[in-house]
Amino acid sequence: MENNKNDTQATKEPVCAELTDSSLTPCTIVIFGASGDLTARKIIPALFHLFCNNGLPSQVAIVGCARTAFDDQKFRGKMHEATQPECAQKWDEFASHLHYRSITYDSMEKFTELRIALQEIDRQHQTGGNQLFYMATPPTLYPLVADMIGKAGLISDQNNSWSRIVVEKPFGSDLKTAKELDATLHNYFTEHQIFRIDHYLAKETVQNILMLRFANTIFEPLWNRNYIEYVGIIAAEKLGVEHRAGYYDQAGVLRDMFQNHMLQLLSLTAMEAPSLFVADRVRDEKIKVFRSQKPFDRSTAGENLVLGQYQSGMIDGDKVIGYLDEPDVNEASRTPTFAMMRVFVDNWRWRHVPFYMVSGKRLPRKETKIVIQFKEVPHSMFAHLLDKRIDANRLTLSVYPNEEIKLTFQTKTPGPSICLEPANLAFQYQQQENAPLLDAYEKVLLDCMVGDQTLFWRQDSVEQCWKFLTPVLDECKICEGEAGTLHPYAAGTWGPEAAQKWMRFLVD
Ligand code: NDP
Repeated sequence: MENNKNDTQATKEPVCAELTDSSLTPCTIVIFGASGDLTARKIIPALFHLFCNNGLPSQVAIVGCARTAFDDQKFRGKMHEATQPECAQKWDEFASHLHYRSITYDSMEKFTELRIALQEIDRQHQTGGNQLFYMATPPTLYPLVADMIGKAGLISDQNNSWSRIVVEKPFGSDLKTAKELDATLHNYFTEHQIFRIDHYLAKETVQNILMLRFANTIFEPLWNRNYIEYVGIIAAEKLGVEHRAGYYDQAGVLRDMFQNHMLQLLSLTAMEAPSLFVADRVRDEKIKVFRSQKPFDRSTAGENLVLGQYQSGMIDGDKVIGYLDEPDVNEASRTPTFAMMRVFVDNWRWRHVPFYMVSGKRLPRKETKIVIQFKEVPHSMFAHLLDKRIDANRLTLSVYPNEEIKLTFQTKTPGPSICLEPANLAFQYQQQENAPLLDAYEKVLLDCMVGDQTLFWRQDSVEQCWKFLTPVLDECKICEGEAGTLHPYAAGTWGPEAAQKWMRFLVD
């Protein structure tokens, strides 16, 4: 096609790659752990919202499985309570696609019954043997459930049908268990059938990082060590551990946030442009970033890592309890709830540029963002006129609460004297009123159904990230024995004192 530059510049309409009808085939979605929090809060509301917007195939069945003794009606009632009233008139139609079978995870007899039930449901809804198995159980059960799916013959052998398995994070609790889980999954599924979800990657603003970087000319030439002073990746939470204390006290912030979301944000910020926006080329570029990360050196841990645990404090004017007083937390726990890491990507583009990754619970506000801090101008011709230095440019990619891209730059204040002040160019996602907004879970479920793995973890990256984090986790183990390595911080503050020399540059 001839490239008419004038036409291109006049384009105001979005340029889209549409989903075709043929990419959305009939299927049965089998959710293990369907009586749990994730199913009620995320999976079913996302499927219902897709259904309301014609985003599900018309021949679809959703089968919840867990130990709890529901029947179809009870399950439908529970799921109804969990969904939003919007589109209420479509609920009964949606509910007719919902089924439930109680299961005991280690019982071959129960899995055999499930196989027969799935065959019947497949016939009833004409789903053509296509299956999506969704692991929404506690992670310790993933290997067992995957094994039983295979051994009991649940995987359909109908001609031209597909079977996929969706695994929620965490993917193991260290390198060894991640490899073990993968080996079990690979007994019955190939890599292209395994969808390791990181729903962070499906947030619009996170997906947009690649569009911003690689669909524009103006940012990429500056996106390197010559112009960037440092990068900050911040995922702050205001909440404490809530109902997840049992899991969190074992995992801590490094496993809960760094092994997955934080390192994915780093890879999107640091990666090279893939030659095509297709799953394996994108994932090839990500693994190169992970491989280029400078190994964490425990002899300089004090300069590159701050770990903390929240104590009681004030959030929004209310007193909140400390981590050790939370229900289900071991009263002597040394689990970190805050981490600040300074990491380096040792390649041509990023040599010596620090990436500060910060995540913690009970911080003053919930906020997720990536900060690209540019260098100061090489020479300030205003220096002799001004009594202090002017701030360098900053590009902020906000994921939460504002879905926003903001570029800060210097302008002249109107008036007779020479005054400079920062101004912003800002773009907010909500400004695109006509765009259909997909919640992150809707996007990942849709991608699982069409078989697009671009937003999902590939096992080589999972393992590389565990390798990178292993010495950090070892350092963290020292917290258990040594005073001084786990820093207390009051709830409602931006983490321990030891992190403040960096935090004051990263949060406004
Ligand atoms: P839940 O703790 O709510 O557990 C899900 C279901 O698993 C429960 O309803 C229960 O069903 C069953 N279950 C719980 N404990 C056991 C056990 N010891 N043995 C056998 N079955 C058990 O988990 P979530 O729904 O919160 O999360 C599911 C998965 O998704 C987890 O791996 C979690 O890490 C991951 N995840 C969750 C997120 C969330 O927001 N909740 C976010 C991101 C990931 P029953 O008793 O009926 O068998």
